[in-house]
Amino acid sequence: MDLPRISRRPTRQVRVGELTLGGSAPIRIQSMTNTPTSDVDATMAQVSRLARAGCDLVRVAVPTAADAAALGEIVRQSPVPIIADVHYSAQLALAAVAAGAHKIRLNPGNLTDPRRVRQIIAACRERHVPIRVGVNEGSIVQRAQGDQRRREQATPLVDLMATKLAEYVAIFEAEHFEDLVLAAKSADAVTCIAVNRLLAQRWDYPLHLGVTHAGDVHTGAVRSAAALGALLANGIGDTLRISLTGDPLEEVLLAKELLCSLHLRPRDEAEIISCPTCGRVSVDLAALVREVRQALTGVGAGLKVAVMGCVVNGPGEAEGAHVAACAGATKATIYVDGRPVETVPNDRIAEALVERVRRYEAGLSG
Ligand code: SF4
Repeated sequence: MDLPRISRRPTRQVRVGELTLGGSAPIRIQSMTNTPTSDVDATMAQVSRLARAGCDLVRVAVPTAADAAALGEIVRQSPVPIIADVHYSAQLALAAVAAGAHKIRLNPGNLTDPRRVRQIIAACRERHVPIRVGVNEGSIVQRAQGDQRRREQATPLVDLMATKLAEYVAIFEAEHFEDLVLAAKSADAVTCIAVNRLLAQRWDYPLHLGVTHAGDVHTGAVRSAAALGALLANGIGDTLRISLTGDPLEEVLLAKELLCSLHLRPRDEAEIISCPTCGRVSVDLAALVREVRQALTGVGAGLKVAVMGCVVNGPGEAEGAHVAACAGATKATIYVDGRPVETVPNDRIAEALVERVRRYEAGLSG
């Protein structure tokens, strides 16, 4: 069955190390390490973990000369391109470029001397390093004094952010440097949507999407899905980060799920659907789903696997799943394409599902 597809806004393409970003390239997932960058081992452990989970690009903070000095080794070891996040110091930006950073994230508003910005542009041009030019709500206006004032500021704030970004872009375009990725972030989802729509109308540079200071995994996931989902559904966005207070690995997993849910990225393992549970459930379904998810890691791309809480309504509610398990008090019935094929004890559900998914992939019946 052909599913509807979102058409993406045409944008320019930039190269970040070996990776393309924008244009026809897949939407790239980013995250950021939260180890001291100067601690190469700890940072590399996190970079590798993020890359294994599906992160396409990893950003590292470069607040000190020691961090810039560590970048060379991190770039050398990293399986994915490394973005140097630099604030306030042109010297650190130049050191990061010299160390081999594949991309630089700059907020020109933090660099008061335009001559220093031009020095960074020259260094990036020489090494074919793209620059992400970003504005954050916080760097544009003083922190809003509560929700009421925030609401009153919402419309002018969007214009203010776009105007400020236009000033920055003009500095780069005056130097004929167009290897740019643009970003405008707010902690407010509606502001994020509005400002990025404006950016998309104004420029064809690739856009990096994100909600800044989005909160912990609960508020951050919902706020990011609301803002980024609305933009992505309109074809806007070439790379994204779901910023969370917490483990950056969650950022990558949530970004993947968001893109897969919008059919903007193929799933590299089975899609798991599970029922919301009700008074008929007789197992710890949440624990069972976690176990099945773990067991199906990397298995069953393109297949739907249902984990349902009862055999009464489960089979009907699992309609459309290639393989399903409907759990009872002690035993579960396994279904393939809606037909019951076996009964297994509840502690064998995950194992039985993996086996059935593998048989399905191999084209074996039942
Ligand atoms: S599958 Fe069964 S347990 Fe789950 S929500 Fe439906 S009726 Fe309730």
